[in-house]
Amino acid sequence: MIKFTDEKFFDLAGKLSVEVQMRIKIVSYVLAACIACMPISMFMTGSFAAAAESGAQASSENENVKTDDGIPWINSELKENITDETPVDPKEDFHLYANKEWLMSNEIPDGYNVWSHYSEREVDVENQCLEILNEESVEGHDAELLYTYYRLLLDWDARNNKGVSELKGTYDRILSAENLDDITNLMMDTESSPIINSFLINFAAEVGFNDPDKYLVKISLPGLLLEDSAEYSERTGLGDMYYGLRKEMFAFIVGKLGMSEENAYRIFDAAIELETKLSSKIYTTKETNQDDYIDRINNEMTYSELTALSKVFPLDQILSTFGYQYEGSYLVVAPDYIKLLDEIYTEENLEGIKALMLVRYIYEFRLILDKEIYDKYNELQSKYLGISGTVPDEEMAYLFVMNVLPTSMQKVYISKYSSAEDKKKMEELCQTVIDTYREMLSDNAWASDEVKKYAIEKLDNITIHAAYPDKFRDTSGLDLSGCSLVGAYNRLGGSELVYNRSLIGKEVDKEMWAEGFDILSCNAFYSWNQNTINMIIGMMGEPFYSSDMSIEELYASIGAFWVGHEISHAFDSRGAIFDANGVYRDWWTDEDKEEFKKRVKKIDDYLDTIVAFGGLHFIGTNIDTEMIADMTGLQCALRMASKVPDFDYQKFFTKYARMNGSLGLYSAELTQLLQDEHPLNYSRTNVPVQQFDEFYETFDVREGNSMYLAPEDRLLIW
Ligand SMILES: [Zn+2]
Repeated sequence: MIKFTDEKFFDLAGKLSVEVQMRIKIVSYVLAACIACMPISMFMTGSFAAAAESGAQASSENENVKTDDGIPWINSELKENITDETPVDPKEDFHLYANKEWLMSNEIPDGYNVWSHYSEREVDVENQCLEILNEESVEGHDAELLYTYYRLLLDWDARNNKGVSELKGTYDRILSAENLDDITNLMMDTESSPIINSFLINFAAEVGFNDPDKYLVKISLPGLLLEDSAEYSERTGLGDMYYGLRKEMFAFIVGKLGMSEENAYRIFDAAIELETKLSSKIYTTKETNQDDYIDRINNEMTYSELTALSKVFPLDQILSTFGYQYEGSYLVVAPDYIKLLDEIYTEENLEGIKALMLVRYIYEFRLILDKEIYDKYNELQSKYLGISGTVPDEEMAYLFVMNVLPTSMQKVYISKYSSAEDKKKMEELCQTVIDTYREMLSDNAWASDEVKKYAIEKLDNITIHAAYPDKFRDTSGLDLSGCSLVGAYNRLGGSELVYNRSLIGKEVDKEMWAEGFDILSCNAFYSWNQNTINMIIGMMGEPFYSSDMSIEELYASIGAFWVGHEISHAFDSRGAIFDANGVYRDWWTDEDKEEFKKRVKKIDDYLDTIVAFGGLHFIGTNIDTEMIADMTGLQCALRMASKVPDFDYQKFFTKYARMNGSLGLYSAELTQLLQDEHPLNYSRTNVPVQQFDEFYETFDVREGNSMYLAPEDRLLIW
C-alpha cells in the first residue's frame, strides 16, 4: 500500500540495498492501498522507506534474540528457524507445509533484505527492462532518455572524476550562511536542489480529499532523519539504526569536501536536535494508521488563511517564488506544524537550521556520486542492516533509471512487452470478482439495508484499471544531453517541479491513471479517492498470473490474493469515509459503524495474541485492515469456487499459501512487524485460511491442531 504519509518521504531502499532517490518524485500523490508490504515494493513512497533501510540494529547485534518462539506458528520467514528436519503438517502450520521446499531451496540474494515471489517477479521485469537498456533495442525519445541516464549511472570513470565537486558550491553557501536571511535566500533559490527548497516544509500539487477531480496544493510535512517522529521522544533500535547509518554516511561524504569527522558528527547532531524540536508536531507512524488520520490532515484553507499561520517563516515567499500561489484551495496537513516553524525559525536556531539543510542536501546525493561513496554506503548498510553483498551495478542503475524516469521506462516497457489480450482477460477477471462481491454484500447479515445498498452502488462505480494506461504524461520536453549524472538528476528534479506546478487547479486526467505509482512493480492498488482498482502489468506474470493458469490457481491468485484483496479496501474503515465517487464523505450509519468496529476489535484481539519472535506480539490495530482485505479476498474467491464443479480445493489453498512464500532478514522482519500495516507473510496465509470451513474439510483440521479456530472465534467481517 501507499500510505497516507507521503510527507514521510525521505530515503528508501525498497527491497534492495540500493536506496532509490525518491525525493525527485514530487508527482501527484496517489491515495491508495496495495497488497504488498514495504520491503518488497520498490516504488512506494514515504514510509516504505523505513523497511528498506530498515530494521534496527540488524543481525549482528541481535544474535541473542530468540526467534523460534512464535505462537501459534514459528516465523518461517527467518531461515534460521527451519531445517531439513523441521516437520510439516497442514493442520499445524499450513504456510510452512506449502512453502518449506521453496524456503529451503532459496536464499536472500546479495543486496536484498527480503526475498519472495514478489521479488522474483520484479526481477523478471527488471531483466526485461535491462535487456532493453543494454541492447538499446527500442527507438524513440523516451528510450533515448533512459539510455542516457543508464549510461551516466554506469560510467564510473566519469563519476569518479567528478567526485563530490558538483556539491561544493551549495555546500560552501550553506556553511557560510551568517543569518536567517542567507538561509531564506538559499531556500528560495530556484536553481538549487528541491531538497534545499523544501527541507522544512513540502508543497506540491496533489488531489485532496474533498474533490477527487481537481488538483489543489498540498502543504505537507518534511521527512525526518530518524523516519518516525516517535523516535525523537522515545528512541528505539529503529531510530538508532537510521542515526548510525546516516550520520556515518554524511560524515564520509563531507569528509571528501574537507570537513573533519568531529565537525561532521557535531553538525549531524545539531540537525537531529532541530528535528527533535520539529517532531513534536509531526505525525508518528502510529498516528498515520489511526482511523481519524484523514480527519486530522484534511484542513483546506485559502492562501491568506495559510500564510497567516506563518508570520516569521517565509512560507508566502517560498510559495510565490516557486509558483505555488493561486486562488484555489490549500490542503494543510498540519497547521500546528506551520505555527511551530514560526517559533523555531529564529536566529537562535540558526546553527541547527543550517545543519539540517546541509545534512539533507548532502545525503540526497549519496548514491550518485563516486565509487568510494557508493561502496561506503553498501558497507554501512551491511553494518546497520545486516544486508550482505550488493546488487550488480546494472541492477542498481536500472532501479535509479526507473525512479527518475518512470514514465519513460513504463512507456518503453509496454511498447515491447504488453499484451492486449492479457489486459482484456484481466478486466474480465476483475469484473467477475466485482460480481461476486455484489452477492457477498447483498447476503451480509449484519449491515443495514441502507449501507448495503450504498456499498453496492460504490462497488458498481469502481473503475477497473488493468495492466497499463493508454495515456501517459508528455515527456517530449525532457533533454539530458551534455549532463553529468548529478546534472541530469538535478535537471529531472527541476522538470518534475515544472510539471507538478502545471497541475495546480487543473482537472485530474483520469486516463493517466498510472501517475504516482509504478506499474512495473509487483503490486496492486485500490485508490480511495478515485474508487479504482489498479491491477498493474508488474504483477501480471508468474507465479501470480499467466494466460494458461488453471481455474484454481487463477481464483487463488487473481480472485483472492489480488483483486479480491484490493476491492475489500473500498469497504474497510478508510473505505467507509470515501464515497462512490472518491469524495471524503462518511456513508456509514452509526449503528453499522459500531457493528463493524466490534468485528474489527475481535480481529485485533486475536492478532494481538500472535507472537512473531523474541516475545514480540503482532500489533492488531496496525495490521487489521490488510488482514481483513486478505480474509475478504479469500472469502470472495471461495464463493467463486463454489460455483465450479469439482473444484480442487487442495490445489487452490496450496497456491494461495505459496504466493505468500518469503524470506526476510531479522532487520526486515522486525521493521515490518513494528512499522508496516501488512502482516508478516506467513500469517497472511495462516490467519485467512483458518476462517473457512473449506479449509478445515480439505485438510481435516480439528480441535487441538494449531490451525484450528473454533467456529465462534472466527473472524470474518463480510
Ligand atoms: Zn491491501
